[in-house]
Amino acid sequence: MVKGCYHLKDIPESVVRMYCADCHRFAQFRRAGLMERFGPDQPMPSLLRILKPCSIGGGMSGPQCQLAYFDRLQPERQADAIARGGLPATWQADWHSRRD
Ligand SMILES: [Zn+2]
Repeated sequence: MVKGCYHLKDIPESVVRMYCADCHRFAQFRRAGLMERFGPDQPMPSLLRILKPCSIGGGMSGPQCQLAYFDRLQPERQADAIARGGLPATWQADWHSRRD
């Protein structure tokens, strides 16, 4: 894998999850569906811009969206996002899949 650039086919998760810390918005896309639409060689960084599930930014000026792949965020940033609430129920089920 080329450093700094990974592709749709490199994603191990069956669901691609995105999160924006600015607008606190969660979004998820099934990887299989993305593969059909964009192909396995779609670079992930530009896919973020193509899908862009949040509406902040994109203009010439003003705030820019902090949209990122949730599963690529640092654990503390994931924890921050979860602590703010609003995490989709499916994510919570996924997140706590390991029972203790
Ligand atoms: Zn955003």
